Amino acid sequence: MQINYGFEPTPSFARQLDRHDSLRAFRERFHIPLQSNGDPYIYFCGNSLGLQPKTTKAYVEAELEDWARLGVEGHLHARSPWMPYHEFLTEPLARITGALPAEVVAMNALTVNLHLLMAGFYRPEGARHKILIESDAFPSDRYAVASQLRMKGYDPETALLTVSPRSGEHTLRTEDIEQVLEAQGAEIALVLLGGVNYYTGQAFEMGRIAAAAHSQGCMVGYDLAHAVGNIPLYLHEWGADFAAWCSYKYLNGGPGAVGGVFIHEKHLSDPDRMGLAGWWGHNKATRFQMPPEFDPIPTAEGWQMSNAPVLSMAALRASLAIFDEAGMEALRQKSEIMSAYFLWLIAQHSERLGIRVLTPADPAARGCQISLLAGPGGRRLFESLTREGVICDWREPNVIRVAPTPLYNTYEEIWRFVQVLAAQTR
Ligand SMILES: *Cc1c(COP(=O)(O)O)cnc(C)c1O
Repeated sequence: MQINYGFEPTPSFARQLDRHDSLRAFRERFHIPLQSNGDPYIYFCGNSLGLQPKTTKAYVEAELEDWARLGVEGHLHARSPWMPYHEFLTEPLARITGALPAEVVAMNALTVNLHLLMAGFYRPEGARHKILIESDAFPSDRYAVASQLRMKGYDPETALLTVSPRSGEHTLRTEDIEQVLEAQGAEIALVLLGGVNYYTGQAFEMGRIAAAAHSQGCMVGYDLAHAVGNIPLYLHEWGADFAAWCSYKYLNGGPGAVGGVFIHEKHLSDPDRMGLAGWWGHNKATRFQMPPEFDPIPTAEGWQMSNAPVLSMAALRASLAIFDEAGMEALRQKSEIMSAYFLWLIAQHSERLGIRVLTPADPAARGCQISLLAGPGGRRLFESLTREGVICDWREPNVIRVAPTPLYNTYEEIWRFVQVLAAQTR
């Protein structure tokens, strides 16, 4: 599970890794924020807000120009017509998520989409009414799930189940999730997990978990906020019932970017699954005849409610073109080496600094993000990083999340990050 890459603890070795990096030119495609002295920040925060591709502006400006030039006619006559604008995103999103094009659509925002999907997929019946999530799920997901339970008349105290790491451990074991499903599966209507946990950076075994949940008759959905554009996904093959993600983290779609959803093919022809309806999900041939009966499009598009936010989609389109050019496989390969290098460098100082790594050592069980559990001097450590021009993030009570991304980060930046840490005393 651990590969020996033959890393060396020198700055020249970091530069050598950069020279041999076949993706190194992609950094030039992004705006890297600058410090007041004109040097670029070391931006390790792509897990929170990805950087702006230099092409984004032209994509958005094209739509502003067409709007100025055409007004309402742009729906049909813009260079990229607005009426079907979301369709420009479908194939790139299908490639990034391992889905059939019919299974994905860009729409709304993440938490909104989780609610829309739960409206269709959370179908409590008698004893089978509980929802299982991870114990350190993103708070918004927990609020969303608890509110769905309450809306259906259940008390989250008893109906919201969580699976936790074993005592003394920080991440979940798949066999423990399987064990909960075996023991309580008959009472669980829905399993909703992150694809990559936002706090620890752990990537879950989504295919294996989906199989275990299905063998107990539970629905399975994944929140891919920290997984999409980070790790390779095979949603169709894994058999997840649904998934949702945001596009402003690893996908670099910009603040508040339009989100996306996956609905497995097996559910697309089932009209009863359709939770909530809106006109953009209606049969395109008759949508503008405005008939009184809803006739859903038999693809993920049938889950759309409102017409497409074109400006936001234009920004995402710019970024997805870069992903298509780089390829998820090459990005993943670089990401694995980057995180391994980071962990290898950190390991030489972690004991002295009282730092523990929360993220799994197994490369298959993590993405870009490394979460460091800092000791009592953690806040000071984080402040010294900020002072030295590093942008990463701090999660209470004492976790530093660092995400070197393969599109725009360098090995030398990882080297420099660890040098800042190494210069600290405890
Ligand atoms: C980032 C993130 C969110 C944010 O939700 P929005 O609806 O996009 O504001 C929700 N859940 C998880 C797991 C996240 O990582």
